[in-house]
Amino acid sequence: MQNYDALIKRIAEGSGLEAAEVERRVEAKKAKLSGLISKEGAAQIIAAELGVSFDNQMLKLAELMPGMRKVNVVGKIITIFPVREYERNGRKGKVVNFFIADETNNAKVVLWDTNHIALIEEGKIRKGDVVEIRNGGMREQEIHLSGFSEFKKSNVVIENVKTERSVVEKKLVEIQEGQSVRIRGLVVQMFNPRFYPVCPECGKKATPDANGYICAEHGKVMPKERAILNFVLDDGEDSVRVVLFSDQISQLIPEEELKDADKLNAFRDSIMGTEVFVSGNVKKNQLFNNVEIVVNQIEKVDVEKLIEVLEKKSV
Ligand SMILES: [Zn+2]
Repeated sequence: MQNYDALIKRIAEGSGLEAAEVERRVEAKKAKLSGLISKEGAAQIIAAELGVSFDNQMLKLAELMPGMRKVNVVGKIITIFPVREYERNGRKGKVVNFFIADETNNAKVVLWDTNHIALIEEGKIRKGDVVEIRNGGMREQEIHLSGFSEFKKSNVVIENVKTERSVVEKKLVEIQEGQSVRIRGLVVQMFNPRFYPVCPECGKKATPDANGYICAEHGKVMPKERAILNFVLDDGEDSVRVVLFSDQISQLIPEEELKDADKLNAFRDSIMGTEVFVSGNVKKNQLFNNVEIVVNQIEKVDVEKLIEVLEKKSV
């Protein structure tokens, strides 16, 4: 709840109220809306009611929250991904993703505007530069820049950046769409893996047509198969479906072994009832209209390591 606490502090400062009073109003608002919105969402409504605006404030990356519309931040670029071209509804466009970091956290930034993208393509802004972003919008955890956003090099010096994503360990009853979470739970169910065809060159989904398979980028291809695996994770109070793709499956078992019935059964036996840590993003499953966790990382709970951590905490 690091973001939430920072937000409450800002609302308190901006309104002259005590932080406890701001929190009380947030709780009341949330109750009034029958718990339909998150605490963060309720806090943003209270901020608006109190006339506290974040529009002209520079925020730290740890203060960003889903739903914010005018985000101003400064951060150092720690990774830039290649420019991607895409075609949507017959229109061609480009997009660039990169990560910025400050002392508090890091965040993915997505550029959609050709003028912004040109700064990257022409090498005017590169990895290691500190950049200033104004009027960005949050889509879940990402900062998206449109033609109305500002994107430029900054003179601010940022010495120490936080490159580890700050993921909060949560209980399943608390999780909400858009969050990055870490959950400790027991695997109580494992579904049979499903396989889908991908382009052998770029790894993106290949779609069948009359003569074989087509990759949007590479044309006709002989597809490879990739697996998707679903578990149900239970933390004693609630349960959630988790989704693992290739990279995460291979943290547990070589992906191709899932096609071998004996190896699959042995894997199922070994994973069922196992306690695991899962880090990932909470997404809405449109089909079932519930939330699930798309896993970035999964590891079996190492009990000895856990005791070590707990002992350090209690000192
Ligand atoms: Zn391809």
